[in-house]
Amino acid sequence: MGRRRRQPHLAPLEKAIQWPVTVARNGKPFHHLAGVAFGRLTPVALGAPTDRGRTRWICRCSCGGAALVVTGDLIRGHAQSCGCEKRELAAQRGRENRKHGHATKRFGRSPEYISWCAMHQRCSSPKTRSFEHYGGRGIKVCEHWKSFEAFLEDVGPRPSLSHSIDRVEANGNYEPSNCRWATPSEQQTNKRPRAA
Ligand SMILES: [Zn+2]
Repeated sequence: MGRRRRQPHLAPLEKAIQWPVTVARNGKPFHHLAGVAFGRLTPVALGAPTDRGRTRWICRCSCGGAALVVTGDLIRGHAQSCGCEKRELAAQRGRENRKHGHATKRFGRSPEYISWCAMHQRCSSPKTRSFEHYGGRGIKVCEHWKSFEAFLEDVGPRPSLSHSIDRVEANGNYEPSNCRWATPSEQQTNKRPRAA
């Protein structure tokens, strides 16, 4: 709704923006982000700055919510929703935990569940150390494997703790046709050539 009926005065600005657009403001460089979508968030106006004077944007979220976010978090992809995305994921994990019993307070997380979580983190969380080799290179987890149960059904039990999920085609995604459990030495034969 908000997306379709854009404010007329924002239209030319949006067209011109290849973010971040940097303009001078009070003698300092300033990233102009109004109208540019970052995940579910679209900054609509400047909000109150932080105590340390960092610029914050009032953002509209596609869920109808709102958030006040500093420029850097938007640009670096650290903030992609008002918090609704995290809540949805947490709710989904909660449902799954109750269903499959692979992550419980009493017994902890199963080896398969640990692999499943790590796979998602490598591909979707820029804060993960190895993100640049996975999500940062455009490698994704297929839609089907958002469900832990579907993942488990496709790959089966993890043979040992030295096995991890290996992608047969190194530039391919995490999906049933491209994945298997493999030990480090099995995976070694399958590395993409490293730049010297
Ligand atoms: Zn939201």
